[in-house]
Amino acid sequence: MNQKLDDKDQGSTPTEELILAGMTALVTGAGSGIGRASALKLARAGANVCLLDLIDERTADVEEEIRGMGRQAEFYDVDVSDPVRMERAIRAAADRFGRLDIVFANAGINGTLAPIEDLTPEAWDDTLAINLKGTFLTVKNAVPYMKAKGGSIVVTSSINGNRKFSGFGMSAYSSSKAGQVAFAKMAALELARYRIRVNVICPGGIETNIGENTKSSKEVDKIRIPVVYPEGSQPLEHGQGRPEQVADLVWFLASDRSSHITGTEIYIDGAETLL
Ligand code: NAD
Repeated sequence: MNQKLDDKDQGSTPTEELILAGMTALVTGAGSGIGRASALKLARAGANVCLLDLIDERTADVEEEIRGMGRQAEFYDVDVSDPVRMERAIRAAADRFGRLDIVFANAGINGTLAPIEDLTPEAWDDTLAINLKGTFLTVKNAVPYMKAKGGSIVVTSSINGNRKFSGFGMSAYSSSKAGQVAFAKMAALELARYRIRVNVICPGGIETNIGENTKSSKEVDKIRIPVVYPEGSQPLEHGQGRPEQVADLVWFLASDRSSHITGTEIYIDGAETLL
């Protein structure tokens, strides 16, 4: 992944637009929102893309759009929390594309938003399994295919992984997101010896479909929504950010333009965290 930028190498340096030419990226949660925008951005920069998500026509659209750009794309229908199917899917992707340079561990759910005393252990487990164990399984299964050449891993956490007030009813979600930050930092330390960089991004509110499958108790609806996302809650935006703004950051962290950045958490929240 390291590209020399001195004069004599300029001729072989990919143009800014095609900075990821010839590389393979794997994106989880690629069918919607941040994952979708990032898969398209990485493909526009020249990468071939393995798209992992639950079966959904939205993922088929992304696959088609990337193929329309002249890149290779393959959809793998897999639940990121399933260890057997994740091992199989990532092996199949690495075999199909012959290399793996970039991993975006992004699939996630809000899960059940409920006060702690009403939150069931099953609901807690579901959120932790998809958001945290899913990240672990993505990285664990990708590393064997990345370690010979190095590469870049980006994990999607959230401002909820670290901010002082995460919102009423979000104990499971926030715990999973905090776990992702810790996991990404430990992975950065462990994997530096293979020249694999690992960074974690912490978006604030982003306009996506994540609310579609969120379950919340009546008490949470009453208390949480006005507190966490009041109108104009991000000083930089009138409302929330856009998936394409997050995709630009993923592109930067995936490419060698960020070659000395690893083990870092980056907030992308229009200063929402500072409120
Ligand atoms: P989204 O719902 O638009 O997209 C999430 C994608 O993940 C969907 O395509 C969904 O099918 C997929 N997915 C869900 N469970 C899965 C599973 N078990 N296996 C495989 N795929 C699965 O939501 P989004 O906002 O784009 O979310 C992406 C990430 O961003 C999540 O980790 C989320 O926690 C994080 N995030 C979102 C926001 C926000 O405001 N939207 C803020 C901070 C962090």
